[in-house]
Parts: sequence; structure tokens; C-alpha cells
Amino acid sequence: MHYKNITVAGSGVLGSQIAYQTAFKGFAVTVYDINDDALKIAQDRITKLKPLYQQDLGATQEQVDAAYERLTFKSDLADAVANADLVIEAIPEVVQIKTDFYTSLGKVAPEKTIFATNSSTLLPSQFAEATGRPEKFLALHFANTIWKNNTAEIMKHPGTDAQVFEDVIEFAKAIGMVPLPLHKEQPGYILNSLLVPFLDAAEMLLVKEVSDPETIDKTWMIGTGAPLGPFAILDIVGINTAHNIVSAKVAATGDDNMKKLANLLKTEYIDKGKLGRATGEGFYKYPNPSFAKPDFLKG
Ligand code: NAD
Repeated sequence: MHYKNITVAGSGVLGSQIAYQTAFKGFAVTVYDINDDALKIAQDRITKLKPLYQQDLGATQEQVDAAYERLTFKSDLADAVANADLVIEAIPEVVQIKTDFYTSLGKVAPEKTIFATNSSTLLPSQFAEATGRPEKFLALHFANTIWKNNTAEIMKHPGTDAQVFEDVIEFAKAIGMVPLPLHKEQPGYILNSLLVPFLDAAEMLLVKEVSDPETIDKTWMIGTGAPLGPFAILDIVGINTAHNIVSAKVAATGDDNMKKLANLLKTEYIDKGKLGRATGEGFYKYPNPSFAKPDFLKG
């Protein structure tokens, strides 16, 4: 692995996790954000990750402290990327913000620096030109709570250099991720290309009153041997996120069943505080949901 110095741009939910995970695996990491207030918030956020690494990964106090020591915090972009082999961008999911960022970054970063976007819904080809170095640019997409959900979807755009693609795959392994290469651009990467239509199909069975969540989940679990059905997965995703996805489809298509579904999620779940696993109730009640009981699959 010839990358040594990594800069993470944007130190919010995902950026702070990416920075800490990368430092935990021994890299020197610079955290860049727009001002010192944002960096202060990032420092608090990252400090809160330390006990989670101890709990979930069995890391020692020395290890979590040493990881933190490998972080440097900067709010001047040129300074933050002066030595960077790789910049991982995790700034807001807004086209104009990202375009402006890549335009500035392309001007101040050394020629050797590779850029990777963690964008969930935007494609790297949308920003390739703004970077000024399309061959050194691609997507490197992590999942929330990256130290446990350690997928890294690595996606080329048509102009990405083949060696850069391979190097970023190696880097993902080096920071403890399971690399999942995508050789072509695909909105939603692999996971959401599978998951979103699957969840949509389950929700349609519910909104058309074909069946109820427990029966639908039971069918999927017995029929495929999967440990969770779609409604149990929706409780993990969170009903707010599910509602946002459905609302975007309503806006794009005006579909009546999607409208009904958006309304159902809002009135029966969100308005009643049933936001999924995080709030103790969604389609199921936690911590002992019916689908996890031994007789669920029997009757
Ligand atoms: P967030 O809102 O938590 O954090 C964004 C950070 O970017 C903030 O610290 C903000 O101060 C900073 N910022 C704003 N403008 C900036 C700029 N011009 N330059 C540098 N920093 C700037 O967002 P997030 O949830 O961490 O998402 C960031 C990116 O990661 C998005 O592209 C999103 O699609 C992607 N992502 C998010 C998740 C998730 O579960 N939250 C999962 C995978 C990917």
C-alpha cells in the first residue's frame, strides 16, 4: 500500500468515522472541515467513537488513544491536502457544494493526490470534470458504523484509471473494509440496487392490502432461509429514511400506491414515534420482536 497520508474532507457522521477508522489502522489522517467550530464538533464526535471501538472490537485504551493521536484537524484546504496521497470526500449530498469543493480541491492538491467520493446517491461522473483529474477520481462508499458494517463499495466512472481503481481497493482492505468493486457506474451501488426494489416490493404488498408485515417477512424467511424479512430490515433502516425514499418517488412519479404508502408511514408510524429499531418500535416491537421468537417460523 503506497498511500500513507490520507485527508478526509467533511467531518460529519460518516467523515468522522472514516477518519477514525483510517487512523485506527495506522494511517496519518488529516481531517478537513469548513471552520474550527465544525472541527470542534468532529473532535467530540470522534472521541465518542473510542468506547465503541473498545466495546465492539475489543480495542485497548492504548489503541484507541494512539488512533486519535494520528489525527490532525485543519480548516485550510490547501494546508489540509498538502501531503495527501488520497482525499476522501464526505461533505453534504448537494451537487453544487460538491462541485465547488472539487473545483477548489483540484487547484490546490498536489498532482499525485487521488480523490474519492463517499456520496451515496450522486455519481462520480457528475464531478469528474470539476476535479481537473478525472483519471484519479472514483467513488469509495462506506456504510454507517463502518467499524462494524465494514463494506467499501469502490466504483469507477468511465474515466477512472485502472491502477487507481486497484490501489483504492488495496487501501480499503488496509483499513479493514471488505472491498466490493463496481466496474461500471451504478446509482445506488450494489447494496441499494438490490435493497431498494426489494423493500419497495414488500411495502407494495402491504399498501395494496395483499398481506401483513409478519406474513410477508415469514414468507421471505422460510422461502429463502434469510435471517430477516423486509419489514425487519425497514426497522433497521428507520421509518424516516424509508419515508424520504418513498416521498422522492411520489415527487418523481405521482404514483397513487406510493402516495398511500407515504401517508401510511407518516400517520401510522412517524407521527406515533414508531421510527424503527432505534426508538424501540417500528413494524415490530424491540428488544424482543416476534420474528426473532423460535415459533415465528413454525406457525
Ligand atoms: P453530515 O451532514 O453529517 O456531514 C457533512 C460535513 O461536511 C459537516 O461536518 C459539514 O460541516 C461539512 N461540510 C459542509 N460543507 C463543506 C465543504 N464545502 N467542505 C468541507 N466540509 C464541508 O453528512 P454525512 O451524513 O456524513 O454525509 C456526508 C457524505 O457521506 C454524503 O455524500 C452522504 O451521501 C455520504 N454517506 C452518508 C451516510 C450516512 O449514513 N450518513 C452513509 C454513506 C455515505
